[in-house]
Amino acid sequence: MKRIIVLFVALLTTAWQAAQSADKLRIVTTTSDLAAIAKAVAGDLADVAGLCDGKEDPHFLQARPSCILQARDADLWIRVGLDLEIGWEPPILEGSRNGRISVGAKGHLDASECASVLEVPVTTITRAMGDVHPLGNPHYWLDPLNGRRIAGAIAERLAEIAPAHAADWRRNAASFQRALDERMFGPVLVKALGGDALWAKMESGTLAAFLKEEANRSKEGGWVAAMLPLRGGKILTYHQSWVYFAHRFGLAVVDELEPKPGIPPTATHLAEVSENARAEGVKLILQEPFYSTKAAARVAGKIGARVVVVASSVGGQPEATDYLALMDLIVRLVSGAQP
Ligand SMILES: [Zn+2]
Repeated sequence: MKRIIVLFVALLTTAWQAAQSADKLRIVTTTSDLAAIAKAVAGDLADVAGLCDGKEDPHFLQARPSCILQARDADLWIRVGLDLEIGWEPPILEGSRNGRISVGAKGHLDASECASVLEVPVTTITRAMGDVHPLGNPHYWLDPLNGRRIAGAIAERLAEIAPAHAADWRRNAASFQRALDERMFGPVLVKALGGDALWAKMESGTLAAFLKEEANRSKEGGWVAAMLPLRGGKILTYHQSWVYFAHRFGLAVVDELEPKPGIPPTATHLAEVSENARAEGVKLILQEPFYSTKAAARVAGKIGARVVVVASSVGGQPEATDYLALMDLIVRLVSGAQP
């Protein structure tokens, strides 16, 4: 069996190498979201491949021989980190025998280092308890501010690996960030203040007051404007994957259908969740397409809530073609579901 796999990998290697253009950098990312952002930063100067295609749960991807193959030739490997890929990244990195991308090497970028991480446990949590978030919540790419930071971190790492193109990486990252800022706040506000100032106001909690001032009234657009009517709303989610999105747009996640991240719903837990959600006035249940909707439908029926099934990754639904399109889709489906 081992020999067959080795042969298979060798054959695939030949095909893969033939498909590569010799002078381009090769970037491999663990997820489609990181691939989409890396593509925006790298432009035509690199080939980018993402391993998890957005249709699968990124916690539980299978390490296929083709993944090892892609890792073998990579100049830069980018992961979400925080143990999201703990079940499948180590065998791929080991199997690739590519020292350039091993943990700690210049060609290994852990994107979580640039993100603000939520739900960092105060006590030690082990995976034996079934919890797949032992180092804090790894779904940070669903906060657009983190998407913006990831682009910057990729540009800086590429500038280290290929300094001849440093200006290109930084210029591409800046134009991605500008496009993201316009989608987030609307072009009028971005033109007036610039993205950096707007994010600073949002982070310091002064944006809402600023937008209420006479001179700035009704200038907001984009995701901020679309999500404004939902502020303070309470939601349920299947998995603990929406906390960053909720935090950014002022929603409160009351509970999850999973009793623990990575553990499927049980009847007892769903009964408790329903009671809690009814008391809190929850009207929306949010989940990814790769989970069964049975549990959500059951709870929704009990408490009179709507179920919104939306991709949490690029490629998870046809409209989510890149990072900005993914956020557009999430904002459109969530804001469209308000009662
Ligand atoms: Zn998770």
